Amino acid sequence: MTEFIEHWIDGASVAGGSDRSGPVFNPARGVESARVRFASADDVDVAVRAAERAFPAWRDTSIAKRQQVMFAFRELLNARTDELAAILTSEHGKVLADAHGEISRGLEVVELACAMPGYTKGEYSENVSTGVDVYTVRQPLGVVGIISPFNFPAMVPLWFFPIAIAAGNTVVLKPSEKDPSASVWLARLMQEAGLPDGVLNVVHGDKVAVDALLEHPTVRSISFVGSTPIAKYIYETASSNGKRVQALGGAKNHMLVLPDADLDLAADAAVNAGFGSAGERCMAVSVVLATETIADDLVAKVRERMSGLKTGDGTRGTDMGPLITREHRDKVAGYVDVATADGADVVVDGRGVEVDGEPDGFWLGPTLVDKVPTSSAVYRDEIFGPVLSVVRVEGYEEGLDIINGSRYGNGTAIFTNDGGAARRFQREVTVGMVGINVPIPVPVAYHSFGGWKDSLFGASKSYGPHGFEFFTQEKAITSRWLDPSHGGINLGFPRHD
Ligand code: NAD
Repeated sequence: MTEFIEHWIDGASVAGGSDRSGPVFNPARGVESARVRFASADDVDVAVRAAERAFPAWRDTSIAKRQQVMFAFRELLNARTDELAAILTSEHGKVLADAHGEISRGLEVVELACAMPGYTKGEYSENVSTGVDVYTVRQPLGVVGIISPFNFPAMVPLWFFPIAIAAGNTVVLKPSEKDPSASVWLARLMQEAGLPDGVLNVVHGDKVAVDALLEHPTVRSISFVGSTPIAKYIYETASSNGKRVQALGGAKNHMLVLPDADLDLAADAAVNAGFGSAGERCMAVSVVLATETIADDLVAKVRERMSGLKTGDGTRGTDMGPLITREHRDKVAGYVDVATADGADVVVDGRGVEVDGEPDGFWLGPTLVDKVPTSSAVYRDEIFGPVLSVVRVEGYEEGLDIINGSRYGNGTAIFTNDGGAARRFQREVTVGMVGINVPIPVPVAYHSFGGWKDSLFGASKSYGPHGFEFFTQEKAITSRWLDPSHGGINLGFPRHD
């Protein structure tokens, strides 16, 4: 019998009123493991209303009690990481060690959410005018919507809902329909941690569910992570409906290797950041910009390291798992032909990989393409798979121009032992997150995460100080307590005397 993954509304599993559903695969086996319900607009409305009902009591719950829930959630999540990692590997395909890494980066944000009072407290100015004080408080927005992508089914929801909830909001989360179980698992765990029903709701689905959230008048904000075309659509639609929006988009991350770099370190970094999670990371390195004098050596070192990588089922101690769907696997594999047609050298072709796993899995081995022209779609497109391109450059200036000419600006890295060059790079590059001899510069939870250009729509990054600002609105209060010396009629604009 087919297993259905249900919505989670008002603290209970709910099938909803729609008969639409979608397949969920185990990508390492290539088989459908369950089906996920697709919410109708009415189902989304039921979830939003549950969140709306839960809001007044949650907003008025003391900071201390909200913190206790977050601390309890942190303890539970820490104790049950293996369970969640197994879910991630079975629906996403990433190897177990990587699934644990994803959870640990999400846990960081939960820990940050425990420290919420320090980020949401206001400011106070005494006696701004005689007998008058001004102070600010930060208050929750109300019902907030979160829409997340397939590639981090636990971490991306954890970037947002712990902060939103700690700050007193109630949430409707719409996870990716490709790997939806992690979100429901997290919502159940929040309930176990003491979160009142209705504060965190999960609805599954596709564009129908997303549009219902974007259009719902009760939803005050949208936090989105996904591909650039959808991020732009979300930003424009939700903004025109009067919502606060943060919409993080796609990426094409470059790693610039200067001639004085430690080439072994650079080769390790390129392989780790290029092929980890089968290249399905928004911070994956997908282009290595290698200066001509070192390019041959660097390509040889990368190739040698790739020969040691084991592709296969993520539960078997392999290095790299499958891609998310058969269609995505075929699309990514298609870029190898594009590379050949565009005159690049295919140094390692992952299409013939020998896997440690079921033959029907969505496999593509690590692929390395050298001398990629920047006019090629292999360079321009976000491939989102295990295809690493090498573009050869004359030196720093050409490398910087290429990075700054990209429409994306999520992450980048420079590999060099020259502090002056690194400092110039950090100032001149038009990218939101920069690594200096660090290939995947995902900021720690108390700094915010987000790119520039087509990698982020809206003014707000995720988590860190931006996260608390996004999920709260500031109110400024000007107060005077009765003082007999200050009465009288004065129709002029208030001045400070
Ligand atoms: P996606 O854009 O296809 O889907 C993201 C979410 O949007 C999902 O919940 C999906 O159901 C929904 N969606 C899809 N099509 C829609 C439509 N037409 N209308 C309304 N909603 C729609 O992205 P994905 O394939 O799940 O994830 C991979 C993408 O996410 C990559 O581009 C990656 O770079 C990006 N990403 C970015 C970051 C970041 O921080 N910038 C982080 C992770 C992933």
